[in-house]
Amino acid sequence: MKILFVAGDPKPERWTVPIRAMVPEAEVYVWDPDGPAVNADYAIVWQPPAALFEREKNLKAVFNLGAGIDGLLKVPNLPKDLTVVRLEDAGMSAQMAEYVLHQLLEANREMETYREQQRQGVWKIHRPMKRSEWPVGVMGLGHIGKRVARTLADLDYRVSGWARGQHSLEGVTAYAGPDQLGEFLTATRVLVNTLPLTEETRNLIDYELLSQLQPGAVLINVGRGEHLVEDDLLRALDDGKLLRASLDVFRKEPLPEGHPFWQRKEITITPHISARTLRDATLEQITGKIRDHAQGRPISGIVDTDRGY
Ligand code: NDP
Repeated sequence: MKILFVAGDPKPERWTVPIRAMVPEAEVYVWDPDGPAVNADYAIVWQPPAALFEREKNLKAVFNLGAGIDGLLKVPNLPKDLTVVRLEDAGMSAQMAEYVLHQLLEANREMETYREQQRQGVWKIHRPMKRSEWPVGVMGLGHIGKRVARTLADLDYRVSGWARGQHSLEGVTAYAGPDQLGEFLTATRVLVNTLPLTEETRNLIDYELLSQLQPGAVLINVGRGEHLVEDDLLRALDDGKLLRASLDVFRKEPLPEGHPFWQRKEITITPHISARTLRDATLEQITGKIRDHAQGRPISGIVDTDRGY
């Protein structure tokens, strides 16, 4: 079996050494832009070049080093019938739940105010937060959204979730499809986006959507930058529809110098770090699936490329 690693990491041996240890029967190659075809059976990729699919004609499946496959689906020459497998959790959902909780607490426990008070040597207690005033709505109830929703529900927040299909999740009021989006939004003050980027979800978070949230609304975007219409976010902040936003993903990354988001006190910016790929958990998952696939066993996490996630 031949496995090709295609991920632009300056130190690919950080990946290939463990892959060789985990699948000793495999020959493991690193993508060489100028090299010949290796006739790989499987490719492990992150933002691969289009040349990969021109050169490697024997691929049985391609494994994406991330949960979101919007970048991979854009690569020209990706064969329509190739099996594309995305990462399923692999340690990301716990990180995401932490990140969302942290951003929520920044908003509702006035942490910035207390930091500022400390700088000024001020001891002053503010009104305690009431959970009932901070209902949370999680868009997307997949591997990540479910974990976020469950974590907040366990902390006694009122949590709603919205997905394409019906879900049943303890402690979470679930809504489904475009018809129930309005109801979901009016039940929500803190909107958390964990959707995949697809034709249906691109630009979904616009002024009209933000206007339907409860007063003093907060947006936490950990999905993709292209879910959010950036000018509409600024407008919603300007006219008070939105109190603050925590953004981990942007239409253009790195966020360009001079972008209006940098200067806004109501916006917290993080550089796409809400959930990092954990190498060990990731490789354990992928190599396990490669072995299963090679032996004809079913694997989970296969992307429906028509649906886009
Ligand atoms: P999943 O595929 O497991 O879940 C996707 C969820 O979104 C599902 O619940 C699905 O509904 C729902 N959904 C998809 N399309 C629609 C739609 N049109 N309307 C309503 N709901 C929809 O993905 P993950 O949870 O693993 O990951 C989600 C996304 O999180 C990734 O695609 C990526 O963009 C982002 N991400 C960001 C990271 C970061 O560092 N910022 C790290 C990892 C992921 P249904 O269940 O009904 O199918």
